[in-house]
Amino acid sequence: MATLDNHIANQVLSWKHIQQCAREVGFDACGIAPAGRLDEDATFMERWIAQGLHGNMTYLERNTEKRYDIRQLVPGAQWVIVVLLHYNKCGHDYHRTIKSLLYQLEAQLGNIPLPTQHIFCDSAPVLERKWAVMAGLGFIGRNRQFIHPDLGSLVHLGELVIGCDVTDMDPADSPKVQSGCGECRVCIDHCIRGALGLDVWDARKCLAYETHKCTVCQQVCPYNRKQNMY
Ligand code: SF4
Ligand code: SF4
Repeated sequence: MATLDNHIANQVLSWKHIQQCAREVGFDACGIAPAGRLDEDATFMERWIAQGLHGNMTYLERNTEKRYDIRQLVPGAQWVIVVLLHYNKCGHDYHRTIKSLLYQLEAQLGNIPLPTQHIFCDSAPVLERKWAVMAGLGFIGRNRQFIHPDLGSLVHLGELVIGCDVTDMDPADSPKVQSGCGECRVCIDHCIRGALGLDVWDARKCLAYETHKCTVCQQVCPYNRKQNMY
């Protein structure tokens, strides 16, 4: 088990220590990105919402600056640690499982220097999938799912936002993963509602947003076929 000594000094955490603790707690992957405004996503979402493609997800029209800039949501935020766990380790309540592991991670890191530390899992205006991309964990596919190169989209994400410096950062440790969709458009062709396009997802047509039961665009994705889950 990682020891707590000397890993926190002068309000600094070691990235290598964070990774080690995340592994020990049981996460399948862990990445990190500097907190900031997601300008490209803000522009994309503003246009998407203006076109009405978000359907009845009217909550996306609120708290927009908090959603686009995590520092507005968590004052003092400096880094976003993103963790990932495969579906089949999450049990029936992934929120509870991921949050519980995040609290264990927080405890293992020791007393993260205040003023800032905050845990999220699909529960606040946080662009989780984008933060996972920023943290070098994968890419967003044409089915609009976050895709890890090995685990596919059969994963759940969580975040620990911290307000201290992080040392031992080497950009080579978490290089951005290029989109792996390439020429593939299998999910677009198989979408039973015509909700997907090359650069667009029309939530008004998407069955998953009516019934939460459609997973066709994940079932057909070659990244998930490796998992033998479908
Ligand atoms: S969940 Fe179903 S309806 Fe929605 S985009 Fe995927 S295949 Fe299409
Ligand atoms: S099915 Fe093909 S295009 Fe769709 S997300 Fe998967 S790899 Fe990308």
